[in-house]
Amino acid sequence: MSLILKEFYDYDLESLTRFFFDTLSSSGKFINSKKILLKPNLLQASPPDRAITTHPVFVEAAILAIKEIDSEAEIYLGDSPGANFINYENVLRKTEILEVIKKYNINLVRIEEFHPKKYGDIILSSIIEKVDCIINLAKLKTHSLTGLTLAVKNLFGLVPGNSKVKYHKDFPKNTDLGINIAKIYDYLKDKTISYIDGIVAHEGEGPSRGTPVKLGLVGYSEDAVFLDFAITKILGLPLDFCKTNIYFLNKVNHFDESAIQNIQKRRIKVPISTKVDFLPVWLKRFVASRIKVKPKIIKSNCIKCYLCYKSCPVKAIQIEDDKYPVIEENKCIECYCCYEVCESDAIELKRSLLHRIYVR
Ligand code: SF4
Ligand code: SF4
Repeated sequence: MSLILKEFYDYDLESLTRFFFDTLSSSGKFINSKKILLKPNLLQASPPDRAITTHPVFVEAAILAIKEIDSEAEIYLGDSPGANFINYENVLRKTEILEVIKKYNINLVRIEEFHPKKYGDIILSSIIEKVDCIINLAKLKTHSLTGLTLAVKNLFGLVPGNSKVKYHKDFPKNTDLGINIAKIYDYLKDKTISYIDGIVAHEGEGPSRGTPVKLGLVGYSEDAVFLDFAITKILGLPLDFCKTNIYFLNKVNHFDESAIQNIQKRRIKVPISTKVDFLPVWLKRFVASRIKVKPKIIKSNCIKCYLCYKSCPVKAIQIEDDKYPVIEENKCIECYCCYEVCESDAIELKRSLLHRIYVR
């Protein structure tokens, strides 16, 4: 098992490039590849210092290392940023990834332009057939629904825009969603090499409404599952807290912790909606289905962009006569897609009374 975790306390291009060079040059999956897809996390149009997206220096270091190892390699870069895939240019600009793409003449990929195909039960962009290798450049973040978003979850961005919404509709429970996203990685694992940018991570109300936190951590593995297990353990969380881990819990015979024994544990604030996981089992059984965390629109912040409306898998958001969106609570399945895509801090999460009583 290849698994390397290293402490990096800033986005230093030279040392990160060395890290990518050393790991990629010893990777069989990479060495035999000519066409390479870089898959960063480009969830929304936000600047790098909000730590919502993979840092541009992290992406640049990967590109420099690839070019140093194989100057002939064809490099592609792409992601499908939630309901915001329509404003892809804006996402690329604000995240400062556009500058990196232009500087190195990288082929920009629109995930949606590669005809989606069914691979078994999974619908994916057919870009996956065009490339020999996927370099998965995940951002370490908490996630209101899946607990954490790490390397396995990052590949969800290869599901084209609207098909992602269907996942939330088909699998409204966080565990089911995590398991079905994990199947995407299971399908792509033979051509995927994973990295995690946790130099500055995102804690609290992730994946987009939390705050940056310096964790000083970078991870690499040819096996995203081991990488995600390692990160979850370093964060001092149970493996099943990260819902994409659950699919692999019975498949992985043995997780060798020697790779992380010299890495100091880090603490991260988890989203309020996930704290129910930490209730005692007897109490959870009693109250879990009755405690709610529902989104609410803050009109004073709303710019009427309707990303929330477009992202809701169950059409629980309506546009009122005054053109502001409104959420029909009884229809809402608490997927938090609207909360995740809103770039104007115009959606907050409201806890029910029972949630406030039982969840601290
Ligand atoms: S709540 Fe947010 S995402 Fe929805 S319309 Fe307003 S600004 Fe846009
Ligand atoms: S209103 Fe928001 S949280 Fe509720 S189902 Fe729609 S997108 Fe999901």
